[in-house]
Amino acid sequence: MSHLMNTYARLPVAFAKGDGAYLEDTEGKRYLDALTGLAVCGLGHAHPAVTQAISEQAATLLHTSNLYEIPRQTELAKRLAALSGMDRVFFANSGAEANEAAIKIARLHGNKKGIKRPALVVAESSFHGRTMATLTATGNRKVHAGFEPLLTGFVRAPYNDVEAVEQIAANNADVVGMFVEPVQGEAGIIVPEAGYLDALRRICDAKDWLLMLDEVQTGNGRTGAFFAYQHTDCLPDVVTTAKGLGNGMPIGACLARGQAANLFQPGHHGSTFGGNLLACAAACAVLDTLEGERLIPRAAELGERIQNGLRSALKGNNIVKEVRGKGLMIAVELNEPQPGMVQAGLDGGILVNAIADRTIRLLPPLTLTDAEADELVAKAAAIISR
Ligand SMILES: *Cc1c(COP(=O)(O)O)cnc(C)c1O
Repeated sequence: MSHLMNTYARLPVAFAKGDGAYLEDTEGKRYLDALTGLAVCGLGHAHPAVTQAISEQAATLLHTSNLYEIPRQTELAKRLAALSGMDRVFFANSGAEANEAAIKIARLHGNKKGIKRPALVVAESSFHGRTMATLTATGNRKVHAGFEPLLTGFVRAPYNDVEAVEQIAANNADVVGMFVEPVQGEAGIIVPEAGYLDALRRICDAKDWLLMLDEVQTGNGRTGAFFAYQHTDCLPDVVTTAKGLGNGMPIGACLARGQAANLFQPGHHGSTFGGNLLACAAACAVLDTLEGERLIPRAAELGERIQNGLRSALKGNNIVKEVRGKGLMIAVELNEPQPGMVQAGLDGGILVNAIADRTIRLLPPLTLTDAEADELVAKAAAIISR
């Protein structure tokens, strides 16, 4: 019997080391990593800048406390604010925790306005995490099942449907904000129509709602902009991120601007580990590298190359419904479930994620060379054309 709680159906493989876009298993077999620990290792594995930053910080000081000044954290906040157009940052350790902070900010916003039962509009098929508030916000019955009673204060609208949000705005005076992913990740890389976020911004402005974006997966350059909303004219009030920020060091961040940035006061929220020296050192190294190696425009370029490559490699294959994505969030959706795709990938030396046996999700590192991108296309296409 395993002494691990049975929360994951694990694949029978373990990795011993990594280098750039490749992982090596305990038997010495190499795999092209088109998953990067679920959009975490955007700079690839064992990136020297991150390794050095972590090693130096670990040899100096790991952790003090948010009871004291943490210059590294202050520096990281300043850099994230400059990158995002936000004013202030709260640091957590994960995506779900960053989202908890955002949800609490929305409730403070509502309570301050005298709304007794403030509600947030959230989307169908969304994913926001596994804590009680974030699983309630998540638009997937499987994530809810067994954990009732869920929290109150959430209203659901179909994703990519502006009219549905307008309807809610017209009928529900308790709503204080909208919380949505700019591209839905766990749902299978669902890219909304151009203009969706701008339309949400207009509704939020008209109703004094907070527009809150979950960029836990889309952030940190993955879509070809530091944050996905930067492809649009829309500036949110609150944005959360995590996954790619530390390249594997656990760190989450909730950023906010204007009024929303000033709602938290001492005693409202906190975290023992959030924004500690080690995590902030890793994140600063990630930001240095994204900038220094010009990886964000590169993510856009690689995304085009891989999507076009997949379309031509899979041309005429009638089980393929669609190749879609934004930057390095890419999905190939099939007309019907095709069991065994992840195992076929393992056999063929590529790590991919499959959603409901019907959609392959690719989240490769931003550091791929052209040759690695082409290898990814060939290996991913081979899984589908078995
Ligand atoms: C992964 C993810 C989360 C949850 O992040 P954790 O670090 O696992 O808590 C939340 N929102 C989105 C959009 C995600 O992709």
